[in-house]
Amino acid sequence: MIPAVMPTYARADVAFERGEGAYLFDTDGRRYLDFAAGIAVMSLGHCHPHVVRALKDQGSKLWHTSNLFRIPEQEKLARRLVEATFADTVFFSNSGVEAWEGATKLVRKYHYATGNPKRWRIITASGAFHGRTLAAIAAAKSEKLTKGFGPIVDGFDQVAWGNLNELRAAITDETAAIHVEPIQGEGGVRAASLDYLRELRRVCDEFGLLLFLDEIQTGYGRTGKLFAHEWAGVTPDVMCVAKGIGSGFPMGAFLATEKAAIGMTAGAHGTTYGGNPLAMAVGNAVLDVMLEPGFLPRVRKTAGALWDRLSALVSRHGAVVEEVRGAGLLLGLKCVHPNTEIIDDLRAEGMIVAPAGENVIRLLPSLIIGEAEIEEAITILDRVFTRRTAGEQQAKAV
Ligand SMILES: *Cc1c(COP(=O)(O)O)cnc(C)c1O
Repeated sequence: MIPAVMPTYARADVAFERGEGAYLFDTDGRRYLDFAAGIAVMSLGHCHPHVVRALKDQGSKLWHTSNLFRIPEQEKLARRLVEATFADTVFFSNSGVEAWEGATKLVRKYHYATGNPKRWRIITASGAFHGRTLAAIAAAKSEKLTKGFGPIVDGFDQVAWGNLNELRAAITDETAAIHVEPIQGEGGVRAASLDYLRELRRVCDEFGLLLFLDEIQTGYGRTGKLFAHEWAGVTPDVMCVAKGIGSGFPMGAFLATEKAAIGMTAGAHGTTYGGNPLAMAVGNAVLDVMLEPGFLPRVRKTAGALWDRLSALVSRHGAVVEEVRGAGLLLGLKCVHPNTEIIDDLRAEGMIVAPAGENVIRLLPSLIIGEAEIEEAITILDRVFTRRTAGEQQAKAV
């Protein structure tokens, strides 16, 4: 019999009841170090007091009115994001893929509004992940996502990740934009080189294309800058964000320059829930903390320390993990054994991590972790890897 919850996920048999900072507590009261952070969502950790206060205050004032009316909290968050980024304007959604889909519509509308309606195709990269709508699975193109859901939405041309020659060759007079994640999260924590991002900007300028970045996973401080593209010193024309934006409150947004958003006039796009007062109160509270002067420098320092400790671990346990990859607090360990086994071992030892493509385990702790959490993570990883190595040697001896 089909379960009451539609069985579309392969879930681990554990349920959590409470969270506090970088820790989760399961229904038996057992404590776990949370290095998945709800898949990069819990940017400020579980139940950050400033965010909880904002949620409670707004929760007893006003939740939702709809976008038929002005929403002061939404105007405030948009203004702050405009001040903090390349963007001139922001649209708020309820989830990552919705932000992605809205940004995709903006790309098509830009060329339509500027007299080039034939330019509607978007170049994407192999190994990409942009969400689960019909268009987003078409953009990612992996069979795992699209099989059985055809016909596949047209308008996306895929090239090999990191290959500029292939990219240039794929541009036609129908091309509207180039679209990538600065670091492919689901795809295996595969970081673009900064030069690759700079070159994408140059190519877009040369051919009159929009540079469209998916910073749903890499944004909101995850790499130690507010947005990952800042490391390359280039700016996109349009960008979608989500995950860390609400530190657990479901929301997303897409941001654009005034030029790119030329077609986004009244009636062009909409949502019932997006940007409602409750979500915006939380979004503003998250930004309060993240824009405090010391916050991002501290993330960079923590990330550097974690990278060093993980690199040392990899050199000691080459039979279990091959390399550290990624940037900031979006890190991956490429496993020798199936990553699912390592993930189960780690959970049994009280540490939560997430899987990624290419047999990688993803470490995405909340951005508020410090030395104590790093120490604990390394201890647990070391224990699990040591046991794996010992098991192996035993097996060989037999
Ligand atoms: C998670 C993710 C999405 C999809 O976000 P949802 O909120 O699950 O719809 C899209 N792109 C990237 C890069 C992501 O990491």
